[in-house]
Amino acid sequence: MAKLKARFNVSLIDLHCHTTASDGKHSPKELVQLAKQRGLQTLAITDHDTVAGFREAQEYAAQQQLTLIPGIELSCVWRGILIHIVGLNFDPSSAAMLQAEQTQIEVREQRAVLIAERLSKRLQRQINIDAVRELAHGGQIGRPHFAQYLLEQGLVNNFASAFTKYLGAGKIGDVKTGWPDMADAVRWIVEAGGIAVMAHAHRYKMTRTKLRDCMQDFVDAGGRAIEVAYGTMDASQQQHMVELAKQYQLLGSCGSDYHGPNRFGLELGVMPSFPQDISPVWKHFSKV
Ligand code: AMP
Ligand code: MN
Ligand code: MN
Ligand code: MN
Repeated sequence: MAKLKARFNVSLIDLHCHTTASDGKHSPKELVQLAKQRGLQTLAITDHDTVAGFREAQEYAAQQQLTLIPGIELSCVWRGILIHIVGLNFDPSSAAMLQAEQTQIEVREQRAVLIAERLSKRLQRQINIDAVRELAHGGQIGRPHFAQYLLEQGLVNNFASAFTKYLGAGKIGDVKTGWPDMADAVRWIVEAGGIAVMAHAHRYKMTRTKLRDCMQDFVDAGGRAIEVAYGTMDASQQQHMVELAKQYQLLGSCGSDYHGPNRFGLELGVMPSFPQDISPVWKHFSKV
């Protein structure tokens, strides 16, 4: 831990985190309060496939003098691999963003039905999708809500094993059908006037060559930034992301990917120091 602490600090800027509008534990307002307590100056709420958290917190953040940047984390696929693209500083009421949200909400709903069907078959037990929906509290339904349901039903021993057994990559509940192509996700963000950021690229299980192909397609589609300071990434992962940023002449973004207490050991605002030789994405935001 001492070693960890040396590289990690509380940043003044966090451009990747979640609320109850998707799979986070805090309401948008609570997250703004937490950001203020931690001394953050700038926050982007980047819920999965929805801007609802930003909309809900916008007025409160202004009262609290916290700069809140419109954000989203879009689910999409590239060559069959699930990729997350963060959108920042777009117009939340633009036709392109409304279209993106509408599409993604439908995909999530249809996907949830498929996940429930598959889990029911595997577990030989009816999964009550309405109960899972309730766990999402009206927010975007996702695999973490299924994990919580399985845990509450005593079907797994802990949250993490719900993913290792049933919901993680390649498992029965990992349904990717319906997600748009990465180029479409990037295009929505660009058309909405925002900056498309490649999220946590160090976590994708790809060879370096394949990741470069993916980055090239991302740039060709209009992507302009990559996360170079993220949650608990280690020094070599950060170095790799910095290399990619330089190779594709991308801006750098930073974020914790905080989802709430006791999730992945992440904390709001906590991330490795921002690399000095990378141009920060927030320099392109008029508000910061
Ligand atoms: P979804 O957006 O429905 O595809 O669900 C993906 C979300 O599940 C991620 O954003 C994480 O919050 C969470 N997640 C993914 N993998 C794991 C894992 N192995 N353990 C716990 N949570 C996970
Ligand atoms: Mn999540
Ligand atoms: Mn993600
Ligand atoms: Mn995230």
